[in-house]
Amino acid sequence: MSASSQRELLAGWGRAPVSGATVVRPESLSELEDLVRLARDPLPMVARGLGRSYGDAAQCAGGQVVDCTGLNRVLDLDIAGARVRAEAGVSIDELLRLLVPKGLFPSVTPGTRFVTLGGAIASDIHGKNHHLDGTISRHVDYLRIATPKGVIECGPERRSDVFSATCGGMGLTGVILEADLRLLAIETSTMRVDTERTGDLDACMTRLSDDQDAYRYSVAWVDGLAGGRHLGRSVLTRANHAVLSDLPAGAQHDPLRLDLSRSMRVPVAPPTSLLTTGTVAAFNEMWYRRAPRHRTGELVPLSRFFYPLDGIGRWNLLYGPRGFTQYQFVVPLGAEATVRSVLERLSKARAASFLAVLKRFGPEGSGHLSFPMEGWTLALDVPLGSQGLAALFDGLDELVASAGGRVYLAKDGRVKPETLASMYPRLANWLEIRNSLDPEGVFSSDLARRLGLARARGPVMSTMAV
Ligand SMILES: Cc1cc2nc3c(=O)[nH]c(=O)nc-3n(C[C@H](O)[C@H](O)[C@H](O)COP(=O)(O)OP(=O)(O)OC[C@H]3O[C@@H](n4cnc5c(N)ncnc54)[C@H](O)[C@@H]3O)c2cc1C
Repeated sequence: MSASSQRELLAGWGRAPVSGATVVRPESLSELEDLVRLARDPLPMVARGLGRSYGDAAQCAGGQVVDCTGLNRVLDLDIAGARVRAEAGVSIDELLRLLVPKGLFPSVTPGTRFVTLGGAIASDIHGKNHHLDGTISRHVDYLRIATPKGVIECGPERRSDVFSATCGGMGLTGVILEADLRLLAIETSTMRVDTERTGDLDACMTRLSDDQDAYRYSVAWVDGLAGGRHLGRSVLTRANHAVLSDLPAGAQHDPLRLDLSRSMRVPVAPPTSLLTTGTVAAFNEMWYRRAPRHRTGELVPLSRFFYPLDGIGRWNLLYGPRGFTQYQFVVPLGAEATVRSVLERLSKARAASFLAVLKRFGPEGSGHLSFPMEGWTLALDVPLGSQGLAALFDGLDELVASAGGRVYLAKDGRVKPETLASMYPRLANWLEIRNSLDPEGVFSSDLARRLGLARARGPVMSTMAV
């Protein structure tokens, strides 16, 4: 059977920019291998998972986009050894449904379960446990990748050059076919959560730095619109997986029960953004006031703790047709003032929307383009379309880069190439490995062209903002 293909308009989770490509849907790994091996025509290609990167990473104007979501078989599950081997198109959602009832959990998970394993590795994702467990690549022992130079098997010990270029390499070294992932053993599907309110940014950072080892997961939800003495006011949540004895007697008979149901779905795309500064500021105020000042030991289903936004299907439509972006950056420890400056600028411009997420990262990993470094990361959703936004972001990029920090490519749709080089000091190393794997520039994406990460090949069509 041969892969189906059709022309489609594609965008990331932020809905902008949009570009058209031929989307190919292989139905087997061998079909996908052939696609890459026989990629002789001048059309560049890139893999796509569930399209949860916010910007232009998983699209390729005028080229081919390989939709990997049909390649989602679990190839091997070792329950006692806590590891799984799967095709790269499997989603975290599918893995949870298989693993949690068996007492296993992905070692690293993002804030949505609707990402594929391949997309997660290509972005070298981090979770709320980065301070202890690092990024997903720390838990991957083996990858099989289709590159223009043939299929390559790699891992931290074998062809580690290819491994380090692929984890965080945004799909530009080839298509990940399958991966071997180490898992975490859990006794229950419940989280034991401590919550507290912190009145400003300093208090929040202090609390995030305290007792780091006592909690596997920690994150602060920041009111990005609060200014003045309330700047950075937050609700801090820190948690561990509950053990069996934490559960009330009535729940102990079925401790691994998993409920992933959705409460609602945005039915249609509204013609304008429903998330105006006024409505969001009111929401943030209410949310902060309603949070407990200090509560310990709350038992919460893991879906509510890890994936609160997944409860509302297609919530990205609420930002209206112009879409939105997520500005996520990290700066090293010692650059706390930069986090404050970014928040101040966004709050003053009334640009930030909804709740921002602040987290303290642990040490950086081996991926050359991997985003996390030891320090502070802040992520804010910002609606697109308002005047002066581009200049505001460019100014933030300069601030972040001059503090030794960087922005996250999986969230980006606008950073400039000259800024990127100063943010990712291992870029030259990455380019060397990438170019040796793909000397003719078969793999490319809108992100790669924008940032000069790919060699020109075939027609370059422009992308358009919605
Ligand atoms: C609500 C929400 C919360 C999020 N929370 C977090 C978070 O906490 N931490 C975090 O790190 N990220 C987070 N993200 C970002 C998300 O985890 C990443 O963008 C992830 O890469 C999305 O996976 P995907 O399958 O949708 O990939 P896509 O968006 O489709 O693609 C992302 C990149 O992966 C590449 N890719 C996809 N499949 C393959 C493959 N098989 N082989 C090679 N390359 C491939 C693509 O080419 C592209 O460069 C969040 C996103 C959303 C929408």
